[in-house]
Amino acid sequence: MLIVQKFGGSSLADAARIRRAAQRAVHAAEMGNQVIVVVSAQGDTTDRLVSAAAAITKDASAREMDSYLASGEQMSACLMAMAIGNLGRTAISLTGWQAGILTDDCHSDARIQALVNNRILQELACGKIVVVMGFQGVSAAGDITTLGRGGSDTTAVALAAFLNADKCQIYTDVDGIYDRDPRIFPDAVRYDAISYEDMLTLARQGAQVLHVRAVEMAQKYQVTLQVLSSFRPGPGTTVTALP
Ligand code: ASP
Ligand code: MG
Repeated sequence: MLIVQKFGGSSLADAARIRRAAQRAVHAAEMGNQVIVVVSAQGDTTDRLVSAAAAITKDASAREMDSYLASGEQMSACLMAMAIGNLGRTAISLTGWQAGILTDDCHSDARIQALVNNRILQELACGKIVVVMGFQGVSAAGDITTLGRGGSDTTAVALAAFLNADKCQIYTDVDGIYDRDPRIFPDAVRYDAISYEDMLTLARQGAQVLHVRAVEMAQKYQVTLQVLSSFRPGPGTTVTALP
């Protein structure tokens, strides 16, 4: 099977968490799967980068901001590849442009258009776990773009769609999708499964768990998503076309 595993910022916040995420990827590979890992930046890195830029100027160009913010995922992806290597498997990190993720040129809110090279497949064929930097791509002009805050989910779904993956697992700090915010409402109920439409409604209402565009893309390409906790075992929530 070809599996895409996406890890959010809180799932990568420190060395121990990166190691734990790396173990999941290695485990999936050891079960005989090809594994693509998509990473967000560690913890609140992206927020800190936004603040650091704001301390320099209030009107940075969107192009420079995109190159700057993309560095967060560059750091986490390289650490992830190192952690996987440390567990005895070969991994390679790829930037958005190395992975061939072509977007439009709408800086800070770019849309993925296509996968324009075979690098990921080539590296998988060599037996490597491929770690792709989420949230970033490249425009036709060759500039780094970003996909909007929370956009790593969209990277994961796009890769699963374009490469026809068998599974797209989104590892996060909650153990699935709830009908209400479980941090505020203790009696919130977790869905075992939810339709794309209902998930889109929740995401558009501000549920932070999945990026709206990721759900739209999952629906368009019929990618079944599993939302799982990085920290607790459990069935999570499956987002799919329900009858
Ligand atoms: N690191 C980016 C953000 O914080 C992208 C992501 O986390 O999905 O928005
Ligand atoms: Mg993030």
